[in-house]
Parts: sequence; C-alpha cells; structure tokens
Amino acid sequence: MSEMFNVAEEFGSNVFNDAVMKERLPKQIYKELKKTIEEGTELNPEIANVVANAMKNWAIEKGATHYTHWFQPLTGVTAEKHDSFITSPDEQGKVLMEFSGKELIKGEPDASSFPSGGLRATFEARGYTAWDCTSPAFVRKDAAGATLCIPTAFCSYTGEALDKKTPLLRSMEAINTQALRILRLFGNTTSKRVRPSVGPEQEYFIVDRDKYLKRKDLIFTGRTLFGAMPPKGQELEDHYFGAIRERIAAFMKDVNQELWRLGVCAKTQHNEVAPAQHELAPIYAECNIAVDHNQLTMEVLKKVAGRHGLTCLLHEKPFAGVNGSGKHNNWSIVTDDGINLLDPGKTPHENVQFLVVLAAIISAVDKHADLLRESAADPGNDHRLGANEAPPAIISIFLGDQLDDVIAQLISTGEATSSKKAGKLNIGVNSLPVLAKDATDRNRTSPFAFTGNKFEFRMVGSSDSVASPNIVLNTIVAEAFCDIADELEQADDFAMATHDVIKRLLTDHQRIIFNGNGYSDAWVEEAERRGLPNLKSMVDAIPSLTTDKAVAMFEKFGVFTRAELESRTEIQYEAYAKAINIEAKAMYDIASKQIIPAVMKYTTQLAKSINAVKATGVAADTSTQEGLLVQTSALLAETKNALMALHEITAKAAECAEGEAMARFFHDQVIPSMAALRKPVDELEMIVDKDLWPMPSYGDLIFEV
Ligand code: ADP
Ligand code: MG
Repeated sequence: MSEMFNVAEEFGSNVFNDAVMKERLPKQIYKELKKTIEEGTELNPEIANVVANAMKNWAIEKGATHYTHWFQPLTGVTAEKHDSFITSPDEQGKVLMEFSGKELIKGEPDASSFPSGGLRATFEARGYTAWDCTSPAFVRKDAAGATLCIPTAFCSYTGEALDKKTPLLRSMEAINTQALRILRLFGNTTSKRVRPSVGPEQEYFIVDRDKYLKRKDLIFTGRTLFGAMPPKGQELEDHYFGAIRERIAAFMKDVNQELWRLGVCAKTQHNEVAPAQHELAPIYAECNIAVDHNQLTMEVLKKVAGRHGLTCLLHEKPFAGVNGSGKHNNWSIVTDDGINLLDPGKTPHENVQFLVVLAAIISAVDKHADLLRESAADPGNDHRLGANEAPPAIISIFLGDQLDDVIAQLISTGEATSSKKAGKLNIGVNSLPVLAKDATDRNRTSPFAFTGNKFEFRMVGSSDSVASPNIVLNTIVAEAFCDIADELEQADDFAMATHDVIKRLLTDHQRIIFNGNGYSDAWVEEAERRGLPNLKSMVDAIPSLTTDKAVAMFEKFGVFTRAELESRTEIQYEAYAKAINIEAKAMYDIASKQIIPAVMKYTTQLAKSINAVKATGVAADTSTQEGLLVQTSALLAETKNALMALHEITAKAAECAEGEAMARFFHDQVIPSMAALRKPVDELEMIVDKDLWPMPSYGDLIFEV
C-alpha cells in the first residue's frame, strides 16, 4: 500500500476539514459553523448537535470507536481521555453509537492530576475542556484503533486557563484587534481578520531502539547523563544535508505519509549538523493550527520511530559534545485577504506601513526581551542556549545589512534616502529600497532574525510546545501596535506623526539590534554594556513572567490574569526541580548499579592478570597493568565519593521551600554535583574494557543507526 501512496488523495484524509464539512453538513449549518470559525462568534448548541452527528458518522466510517478531547495541559505534552461512542444497551441488548453536541463542545476530565500551580486545589478537581472549532478534528489510527480527536482548550470551572491553547487563542485575538487598527490607519478597509502565521522547524535525533533500551538515562530523562566522546564527532560536518541513510529514509517516508493524512503539511526534511540528527519543517499555517500540528508532529515522530525499531529523541541535548536540537519558530502576521504585514512591499505607501510594523516589533522585543527568553526556557534548553551551537541566552534582533542601513539612516536623518545595495532604487522620503528576499546574509547565531518576510525565533527547545513563544510574540506585538495606534489615531498630521513614531521607536530601541557574531564573548560584554538581559538559565528566566510590566501587559490584553501568571511561575519552578531531581536520581541509580560493578569487574580482571603473570615466576614487567589498576582504582574512588556527595546534596533539596528556593537549589547545588560524578565516569569509559561497559557508547548510539 505504501508504494501506492497518492499524496493528493490521502492528504487530510483523516481530517474533518472544510471539504468534509461542506459535503456532510446541511448548507445553513455549514455556513453558521464557518462564521463561528472565521469570526470567533459563539456556537449555537443546536448547530453543535448536527455537527457532532456528522462528525461521528464520518469518524465511524474511518473505523473510529472512541472520541477524545485532545488538549494541552501545562505538562507540555498533549493529554486525552477516551470515551467510546456506545450508549447503554437497549432491551434487546443492542448498543447505539452516539455523540451529542454537548459532548463535542464540552468535556469534563478530572483536572486534579494536571499541574495548575495552585489555581485549583485538588478537592476542587473540576475542570472542563472546550472545543476549539478553529482547529479541525481528526481521526488518529494506532494500536488503540481509531480515535476521533477534538482539539480543545482546558480551563478550570472558574474560567482560569489550565492549558497552553487558551492563552494562545486570547493572544491571537489581541494581535488581531490591534493589527487591524494599524491597517485601518493606513487606509485598509477590506481586511477582516489578522492572524499570525507560524512555521516551526523541528529538530530531533534518531537512535536504534535496542541500544536506546540499554540506556537507562535516555529512558528516564531523554538525555545521556554519562558518555565519553567518540573518536569522531561532528567536526567533519559530513552529516549536515548529507545523503539520508536507507533506514532513516524509510522512517521519514512513513512519518510524512502519516502527517499528510492528518493534514500536516510536512514539507522539508534533511540531516542536521550532528550525526543522527535530522529536521522536519512543515509549510507554515495559522498560529493555533501550527501549534497543534507541531504537537502532532512530535507524537508521530515518536510513534513511527518505534515501528521502525528506532527511537526519536526530542530532548534539547541528548548528547554532550555534539549539537543539541531546537525548534525555529518562523512567525509573520497575515490578513484574511493575504497581506503579510512583514512583507516590505513595493510601493512607498506599503513601505511606511512595513516600517511601522518593524518598529513596533523591534520595540516590543526590546521591551520584553526577558519574557521572550522565558518563553523558550525548559530544563533541556539550558544546555543549549549559550553553547556554541544555539543562539545565546541574550535576546537580540538580526535585520541584515540592507535593512540595518535603512534603519541607521532613519535614526540619523529621519529619512531613508538611499539603498546600500545601490542600483536598485533611489528612494524618496517615504519609501524603502526593494528588499530582495534572499539578499540578506544569514546569521545563524541570532536568536531573532528577520528572514525576508518573517521573523525566525531560534531559541525554542526541540521538545517544547511552541505555544508559549507565540503567546508572548503575539501579545508583545499587540501591545506595541496598540501604543502606536493610540498615538496615530489622535494625530493631526498623519504622515508627520508616523514619521516621528518610527524614528522615536527605532532610536529608543536600537540597542536590541545586533548583526554580529552572537556566539562571541565580545557580544556578551557588549550586550551587558547595552543593558540587555542575559538570563542564563531557566531558573533565572522564570521571574520574567510576573514583573509589573508583564502582568500589566497580559492583563490589559486579556491573555493572562495575574493569578494565571503566578500559577504558571509555580509550575515552571516545580517542573525544573522535578526534572533535575529525576536526572540526579537516574545518575545515582546507573552509577551504583551498573557502572561501579562493571569497573570492579575490570579491576578484578586486571589484578588477576597481574597475579597470573607473577605466578609464572618469570620476571615479566607488569608495571603497565599495575599502572592501569592504580589509575582505575583512583577513578573508581573518585566516582564513589562523587556519588555519595550527589546523594547527600539531592536529599538536602527536600528541605528547601517548594518553588523558587528549591529550583535554585537544584540549579546551584545539584547540577555541579552531577557534573562532578560524570567526569570520572566518562574517563573510566575510556579505560575499561568495552565488553564490560554496561551500556552502548556515544559512538554506538550516533554512528550506528
Ligand atoms: P528558511 O530557509 O528561512 O528557514 P524556509 O522557506 O525553509 O525558510 O522556511 C522555514 C519555515 O518557515 C517553514 O516552516 C516555512 O513554511 C516557514 N515560513 C515561510 N514563510 C513564512 C511566513 N511568511 N510566515 C511564517 N512562516 C513562514
Ligand atoms: Mg530556518
């Protein structure tokens, strides 16, 4: 069957999409549902009944027996609770398959075991899920059979968001309202809605499943906690964009087919920098759908890998010493009639609007650099940000030479009168040189780069949901648009006022623009001089969520209440402490039960061989064996001491107050203690007989897939 795969026919075949709705719903119902989807109006319960019934019939034809509200609690992964369609048997013992509008619109999972950060005490366990009809339902097929999945938001009974979708939808509403104000100021009377477009590029590693199962660290924590570097790493750069191996190619083919059936536009695939590392990029979609699709993509990558005897590692840093994985969040702002606000445009008129949008974004990113950084924080990403592979933890904006030059001119003279790439256009006061999309050089070291008609936020971690970065982006830019609109709507001379706003914002916020090498130490110093925040770890970044400026902004635009922000702060601290605690315990476990016994076997063998040589009575030289024994024993002692120290320090963590104090303790005390244990173990791995070493090496894992 896979040989016969017809993309055009199969694409979206498991999605209750527009075409299916049009075909299966009565005309009037279809029209009303479309209105709800497009304009965000309330869904009438009678319509919901008809939609639910059509959806159920369609799903049953696809083999579905169950349905689930598919939601995104604050654990970062999706959650679901399956209910079958069957009713209780009638007198004849027959069951019916039913699904009501009420069941479609609202679900009531027991919310008590999802993190809520104190928003909902466990005795008040009720929460509900509500259908997000802007993201289409789909049928997912796996070992559990076929299940109708309904994308939903997850809230407490008092209306607080307990998930990532609710604030995302709120932030989309905020940017819609404020961007429309800007468009109207520039004379656009026709666009009805503005929505962010998002294309997340997903990086991941693939390893052999049997080898994975021999690595308890990968199983428990998603990353290797021990491991000496193999003789070859990524220094030859022969993997990046290299030919894709057969086994991986077969896996990718299945991933694509599965994603296409689910309506995910998987588009690009290639090898990444590190051995065994790959990337998958979709064609960009509306923000909310892109976030859902990215969650689905991560699920599908893992599931399909399993079918191929492989394991997909989504962790940001599965292996020390080679590149980690991220997720580039490409973001732009697009109207319902296809205007991209980040497209420089061809006329002077469009150019001014573009400059206003650009100035708004520059000011927003500068004002809320800390929040943007926080939105990409997860325990795994701490290993990446600032290492020489991923953008530093300092937020800055890369614009490229051309645009940078225009901005320099606007700041100095208030006018952009010429283009650096001369010859293209000589421009007047209000217009820009034509910016060729690919004319600008690529700066891979920048965390926030303008790439022609979109911004690319490169800090996000590979395992993280892209909801948080987009919530922040949408809201901070909504705020900047709002401030600008407030000012320009009052202006007597619109052209003059616009000119002044652009110049002022660019002047005030130019410190955030940096086109140089983000990996250099010089930049760290320079950024400090400029007063840009350098939040090195997740624990340092979390407080950004509840600063006065953050709370004021999120409340003003109805994205988060203070209580919601405080709860998310608690959840972040807790998630951090738990993640490091699990890593520390896994290290303790592996070192005690696997590594120390293996090293002892090796020392015993060494001692035996020394004695055997001596027993022959021949005056042979055993100094090499003895030297090895001394060296190994010393490292073994170091390991044992480090192990005891880690054990003690981890136990002490329990004495800390939960929340910030505990997270800080893990960061400041436990992590260095883990590093102290890893060091002698990695040295031992280079000495001890490979046959005795209790787990596959880095070389086995990343070069033999
Ligand atoms: P790049 O080479 O700059 O990374 P690609 O064309 O490979 O650009 O696109 C990378 C990702 O960005 C893809 O997911 C793509 O769909 C997405 N993308 C392209 N244009 C836009 C846009 N205007 N808005 C949002 N995402 C976009
Ligand atoms: Mg890219």
